[in-house]
Amino acid sequence: MTDNRYDVIIIGTGAGGGTLAYHLAPSGKRILILERGDYVPREKANWDPQVVNVDGHYNTKESWLDKDGKDLHPHTNYYVGGNTKFYGAALFRLRKEDFGELRHKGGISPAWPISYDDLEPYYMQAENLYQVHGNRGEDPTEPEASSPYPWPAVSHEPRIQQLSDDFARSGLKPFHVPVGVMLDEKNPQKSRCIRCNTCDGFACLVGAKSDAQVVCIDEAIKHPNVTLLTNSLVKRLETDSSGREVKSVVVERNGSLEAYSADVVVVSCGAINSAALLLRSANDKHPRGLANSSDIVGRHYMGHTNSVMMAISKCPNPTIFQKTLGVNDFYFGSKDFEYPMGHISFVGKLDAITLKAGAPAIAPNFTLELMAKHSLDFWLTSEDLPDPNNRVTIGRDGKIVLTYTPNNLEAHERLQGKLKQAMKQTNCAMHGHECHQGLFGRNLYVGQQIPLAGVAHQNGTIRFGHDPKTSVLDANCKAHDVDNLYVVDGSFFPSSAAVNPALTIMANALRVGDHLMKRLGVCETAYEQNRQQDRELAVSR
Ligand SMILES: Cc1cc2nc3c(=O)[nH]c(=O)nc-3n(C[C@H](O)[C@H](O)[C@H](O)COP(=O)(O)OP(=O)(O)OC[C@H]3O[C@@H](n4cnc5c(N)ncnc54)[C@H](O)[C@@H]3O)c2cc1C
Ligand code: SF4
Repeated sequence: MTDNRYDVIIIGTGAGGGTLAYHLAPSGKRILILERGDYVPREKANWDPQVVNVDGHYNTKESWLDKDGKDLHPHTNYYVGGNTKFYGAALFRLRKEDFGELRHKGGISPAWPISYDDLEPYYMQAENLYQVHGNRGEDPTEPEASSPYPWPAVSHEPRIQQLSDDFARSGLKPFHVPVGVMLDEKNPQKSRCIRCNTCDGFACLVGAKSDAQVVCIDEAIKHPNVTLLTNSLVKRLETDSSGREVKSVVVERNGSLEAYSADVVVVSCGAINSAALLLRSANDKHPRGLANSSDIVGRHYMGHTNSVMMAISKCPNPTIFQKTLGVNDFYFGSKDFEYPMGHISFVGKLDAITLKAGAPAIAPNFTLELMAKHSLDFWLTSEDLPDPNNRVTIGRDGKIVLTYTPNNLEAHERLQGKLKQAMKQTNCAMHGHECHQGLFGRNLYVGQQIPLAGVAHQNGTIRFGHDPKTSVLDANCKAHDVDNLYVVDGSFFPSSAAVNPALTIMANALRVGDHLMKRLGVCETAYEQNRQQDRELAVSR
């Protein structure tokens, strides 16, 4: 065995790759993790809204192209932990119905090749691993779960509790959003999370967000059989002469090219970069791109229809950690619109600095400071449907081209209408119905005019399925066309559902991890002993 030969190579350390690395680490197998980025530097700027939201300091400086050939500056991050370093850590299970076919106003959301019940045990493991805080039974659309959340829900602050009570009085069923932050409200002095106002969109300076670096990669690399190489950009995958096996992973590192090989190669670069990597790896046996005999690689890009809606109230909103309240009453439709609409929750509390670059028309008599002090900042998500013409391709100079035409938009407009109606029905004790001056949409991607740049929820470009003609991966997320190639990031989604994607990516990575352990002949007893040792070490630290 040469130094460059491994049992498993995992490319990317985000929700998919990071979780898989954690799961496989105690197997004793030689594992190489390749990550194009470095660690997020720990610095005060981590929590500075100007640096993070206005200057976009931690975003990649890479530029892609849109369908018209115009430069696109994606709002995405290349670091150990991937986008989970910056995510809001709202960790939702998809709804049971999301795994079946669902009829939307804009078309069909297709069924998955696995059912909710197949993924349920892994959702549970992922919730434990990522320390999800939530209350079962509150969310009316929540699927059945085999155990409670490992931690109680993060409490609402008074303004949000008041809104929750108002919503409940008007007949809605507001619930606590499940979040992965290491907050111990019963023991604030010892709590790792300090409940701050710079969580969603920011890296956590004190390492208290359950992201894939802190929770998974840092633990995985404690095992001597696991190697992490940062600043290692995978350029292409090469196959043997049969085209059935990836034999070489070509990496740009320290200014030169290196090659690594493994029995199993797992791609987890995020839905857009994974598709780009396969397309760039075309060869004689795979002329349209690696594993692309179906011509599906890169197609069906989805990213949700998202919007931020600010309700400016006369009452101030001094909330610090706002992302605690959700409303799913319209997820599957309502009496007056019998199609799915989506999910309502919150973004982190907006501040005047962040608003400066993307503020909506100012409410009468409000400055930006006042707006920020009085706004309730909602996050609305609706499902976008898989359209083969919405796709990732490789354009001039090898740049990523992202072609996307939004669809199913009536669902989102209806959802916005439902929120406006719900806000009118709330009755402030001081100001009555007049409290909320209105709802304003805000351009979330500060300093960037192109909404397409908001690729936070990217998924769907390398879908899994039973039929090799209509999918790239089989139900175990192995490429139909290549025997040792797997994909475990958000690419595998055949439909995007309308809740945040990360927990499903994590749960699926654990599921694929179990499959890989069988494939690699890992001894279950030895694995359990190693995992137990990990637990004991963690307790003694
Ligand atoms: C601001 C923000 C807030 C969000 N909030 C939430 C939320 O509250 N809840 C939720 O569920 N989701 C949220 N998301 C989305 C969530 O972060 C993603 O769904 C999730 O991280 C995707 O996981 P992934 O494994 O597909 O990709 P990523 O996490 O993006 O990981 C991909 C990794 O691959 C690396 N990589 C890429 N190309 C290469 C290459 N060629 N060679 C080597 N390495 C490579 C990248 O550097 C990265 O580390 C948010 C995202 C953002 C940006
Ligand atoms: S709220 Fe907690 S987890 Fe989030 S950034 Fe602040 S300290 Fe970190």
